[in-house]
Amino acid sequence: MIPIKPVGNKEAATPAQAAAAFLRPGALHLPTLPPLSLYIHFPWCVRKCPYCDFNSHEVQGGFPEDDYLAALRSDLENALPLIWGRKIYTVFIGGGTPSLLSARGLDRLLSDVRTLLPLDGAAEITMEANPGTFEAGKFKSYRASGINRLSIGIQSFNARHLQALGRIHDDGEARAAVEIAQANFDNFNLDLMYALPSQTLDEARRDIAAAIAFAPPHLSLYHLTLEPNTYFAKYPPAVPDDDASAEMQEMIDELTAAAGYRHYEISAYAQPGRQARHNLNYWQFGDYLGIGAGAHSKISFPHRIVRQMRYKQPKSYLEHAAGGQAIHEEFEVGRDELGFEFMLNALRLIDGFEANLFAERTGLTLNAIEKTLNAAEAKGLLYRDHKIIKPTELGGRFLNDLQQMFLAG
Ligand code: SF4
Repeated sequence: MIPIKPVGNKEAATPAQAAAAFLRPGALHLPTLPPLSLYIHFPWCVRKCPYCDFNSHEVQGGFPEDDYLAALRSDLENALPLIWGRKIYTVFIGGGTPSLLSARGLDRLLSDVRTLLPLDGAAEITMEANPGTFEAGKFKSYRASGINRLSIGIQSFNARHLQALGRIHDDGEARAAVEIAQANFDNFNLDLMYALPSQTLDEARRDIAAAIAFAPPHLSLYHLTLEPNTYFAKYPPAVPDDDASAEMQEMIDELTAAAGYRHYEISAYAQPGRQARHNLNYWQFGDYLGIGAGAHSKISFPHRIVRQMRYKQPKSYLEHAAGGQAIHEEFEVGRDELGFEFMLNALRLIDGFEANLFAERTGLTLNAIEKTLNAAEAKGLLYRDHKIIKPTELGGRFLNDLQQMFLAG
């Protein structure tokens, strides 16, 4: 990684100067720039869940909606020179719990986005929403403002497990949320987790079956992991062992396939044509501008790829964004890191990627990772022909090991 600027620095270049510097000659030659997405982070939740390591903070009596929306606008305005002339194909408002935004606030946010950026006519515009914040009128209004896809953090339909996960909603609210989503959105995703504290295979099956019964166009099914720096890491609950988790994964594959879902990414299942376009762009090593507290960006230029991270704490972000300095870290991705970065993402895709995408997105030839590709193939972790590179079934099962091979080589 090549640091570009220490942050919050008053002498830092203006956004236009920074953009001009990124355009100068460099070590890479990207034949074309990848599709560009916009991510907007909303950093507050009603309560912090014990397993959550996202950048989310308890609202504790309220959050400064108007100030945050103003900060997002200023953040976006300052980022514009980096993406001049580029269309936005997908927008994702994530968190945190963005569905805490008022209908008026969300409308203001999307009209700022539309005023400042050229959105593709068919742009996918997703918002994350949590049961417990669902109110029919508000969601109708979100739809009218332009949200065309909802991603709902259900996690489970089982009251006991929801409680163990520290969620603010119960099973009745989970079902009510999906019904409101169905009434207003033809495109929506349900997020569920499995391998929950004390969960049996049968309970996991009932959860997945309950989700499928709503016929959501997309399902994201995550294995609960005990992440460092969370309450669960400090006080670990008893969770199903590896064998039990593997049985749950098999059961999930069977139920989803029988219901017509295609397993296309390690945790993602979609009805035909309903893959999450925003996430696909991440996995295919596309570009994204991330605004809001702690948001990450990856932006390609003809001769370099740049990563940025905004100030993480909401208070700090609000202060810095108001002064036009929302970026906390910024660096150019080194040539030697690009192979691993690309593979870290693209190997998550069950069908892998077209061989020429590697050069298109990294500016490197496949020679850069040839040795590791051969080694992974020899171990039975990777399949490749002249068109496609993808993890084998074994590679999918040992994805971490497969990805790590590209870090070393
Ligand atoms: S609602 Fe989601 S983002 Fe918020 S604390 Fe819980 S898991 Fe984290």
